[in-house]
Amino acid sequence: MEEVKITQISDHVYASSMEEIHDRPHLYLIVSAGESLMIDAGNSPAHARAFLSLADEMHLPMPKLLCLTHWHWDHSFGGAAIACNEAAGEKTIAVLKEISTYSYSDEAIHDRVLKGTENDFVEGCMKLEYTPEQRESMNIRIPDEVLHDKQNIPVGRILVEVHQVASDHSDENLTFLVREDSLLITGDLLYEDFYHGNAHYTTKGVRALQEGLREIPAEWFACSHNKNLITRDEVREFCRCLLNEKRLVLGEMNRDEPVFE
Ligand SMILES: [Zn+2]
Repeated sequence: MEEVKITQISDHVYASSMEEIHDRPHLYLIVSAGESLMIDAGNSPAHARAFLSLADEMHLPMPKLLCLTHWHWDHSFGGAAIACNEAAGEKTIAVLKEISTYSYSDEAIHDRVLKGTENDFVEGCMKLEYTPEQRESMNIRIPDEVLHDKQNIPVGRILVEVHQVASDHSDENLTFLVREDSLLITGDLLYEDFYHGNAHYTTKGVRALQEGLREIPAEWFACSHNKNLITRDEVREFCRCLLNEKRLVLGEMNRDEPVFE
């Protein structure tokens, strides 16, 4: 696996490199005046630890709070390795409570894929990220605090704003605005629904996304599985193409298959 790297992407925000084979998304530290807020926990304790040990080597402050964008395993399963409190939206917490009771043996995961409650991409990545023994004793952390839409989280001298935005990707997508940097950490907000049949968008979901983003003053969008930052204009064009059922390019992401349902 590629080594984790950390890059400063704006005045206050540092991001880890992403890794596609194991489906490791970017993780973020929002830093101000000796404090930091971590966004997303990573897909495993190993992922979370690799990120924080490199951040420590770089003399970045350890997080005072971890916030989750949504419940998907690649964003939440690293939580058990992180010392500070963890916060997430109400729906995310409810799903994590439920899936923390699941078995993650080969058979149990495959069974869920056959039933359509898990997808085979996740199955493949989870088996690469964890040994069978690790999956036998999976420790999925339940967040300690509930985050609310429009909540402000003080970090050093700045306030990080929480914005819930509706989209096809998940029932709940929390995004984190660093107003000073005109940067929105979006998690997987801009991606398809991967859990109900083939990956797809819906007209209703894309319109809700456009509506939700309209009020958020960010010129830059940090998306969890895109290598580069996306501009506001690119997001606008992306939504417009989706509504016209056109073939899509978001940043470096090229899609060849039909994605609209
Ligand atoms: Zn996701």
